[in-house]
Amino acid sequence: MKQKLTAVIAGGGIGGLAAAAALGMRGWDVTLFERQDALRASGSGIYIWENGLRVLEALGAAEAATQHAFRGHYFEQRDNLGGIIESAPIRADKRLMTVRRPQLLAALADAARRYGAKIVTGCEVTGATARGELLLSDGRRVSGDLALGVDGVWSRVRQSLGLEVLHEQAQEGALRTVIEAMPGDIPTADAGKYIENWNGPLRLLITPVNDREIYLALTCPATNARAKSTTLDKALWGDAFPAWRHLIDRVGADVSWGVYSVTKVTSWSAGRTAILGDAAFAQPPNLGQGGGMAMQSALALSVALADVADARDIPAALVAWETQERPLVDHCQKWSCLYGEVANLPDEVRTMTIRAAMSNPWVSAQVFRAANHIPTGTGHIPVWDQR
Ligand SMILES: Cc1cc2nc3c(=O)[nH]c(=O)nc-3n(C[C@H](O)[C@H](O)[C@H](O)COP(=O)(O)OP(=O)(O)OC[C@H]3O[C@@H](n4cnc5c(N)ncnc54)[C@H](O)[C@@H]3O)c2cc1C
Repeated sequence: MKQKLTAVIAGGGIGGLAAAAALGMRGWDVTLFERQDALRASGSGIYIWENGLRVLEALGAAEAATQHAFRGHYFEQRDNLGGIIESAPIRADKRLMTVRRPQLLAALADAARRYGAKIVTGCEVTGATARGELLLSDGRRVSGDLALGVDGVWSRVRQSLGLEVLHEQAQEGALRTVIEAMPGDIPTADAGKYIENWNGPLRLLITPVNDREIYLALTCPATNARAKSTTLDKALWGDAFPAWRHLIDRVGADVSWGVYSVTKVTSWSAGRTAILGDAAFAQPPNLGQGGGMAMQSALALSVALADVADARDIPAALVAWETQERPLVDHCQKWSCLYGEVANLPDEVRTMTIRAAMSNPWVSAQVFRAANHIPTGTGHIPVWDQR
């Protein structure tokens, strides 16, 4: 009988749990180490495009992850006067769903455990070696045939393997929170929409995540101390977006602030140790694909390793995985950064730029290339509207 291969994973976020589930599903013996004392998602809601939904389906986590989720049919952008910049229909065969992050994380964790993965919380990884080893803060060294660093933007695994080319914090960040949905919050004419509102360098993204809750992301330059205060300056934000003052006024104390990060690496692996997710390719959230790319790469990793019989074959399989998956991930990161540039434009110029760009089929294809992609390991799943 083929001997079980073993994997040790640093990080129990979206990417780490997806990797644990994907490898576990293919018969690996997986142990995941998470620094926090419990699996906890920072941030409030999350957009999952068709590519991410397909990965969740392949992992057997889609139903739990998307139960009661909101499925929008338009992504609308509005200017500083409330006028519509662009109202883009979301294709029927390309779903976009929004959920609470804890729901997504719990669904991935359940899938990982179902496939036998062991999840150890309260355990910090301080480094790694290219021999499939993770170093733990209590002095222990754990090893597998494969080690994975999925430990986020400040990845110790990436740093200790010397793979980092760049870790840049963007000039922008977002306050994120969830409010209870009340009747009349969203006008009937706007039902089924995600609505992104612009005013100068401020942005308010309104995202239902189920029929009871609305996720709000309030974006501003990291230098704007008043706007980025987690004790929300309701007067400032309400004046910037008067049509949505009723939502802003209901924001409570549970508000988190985070700046956007970009990470770039020389390679996704060194020997038998690999990195993925924000550790390897963090991107600003303008395309809503950071989590999607993490899950997609995790599933693809398990496919690339499916025929490996011996640990000695792993380094070559990791190189092949990166060769196949990296072009799309790099593309997505580049276009997410590019898209973010419109935040720096004056209002009227931004309106003209978005309209001109998104009415150009080539630009639109670049922006949605990741969402329209059939991820590795999901080819057997029928296209959504042909089921
Ligand atoms: C404002 C904002 C909005 C976003 N919106 C979207 C969206 O709508 N859709 C989307 O797809 N993506 C979105 N993203 C991106 C998405 O959140 C990330 O790409 C995704 O969380 C990456 O997953 P990950 O597992 O690589 O990293 P993380 O989610 O950061 O998980 C890393 C995990 O590793 C743990 N960890 C860290 N260091 C250690 C250590 N030393 N030892 C052990 N454990 C450790 C952390 O506690 C954490 O649990 C958004 C990001 C931001 C900032």
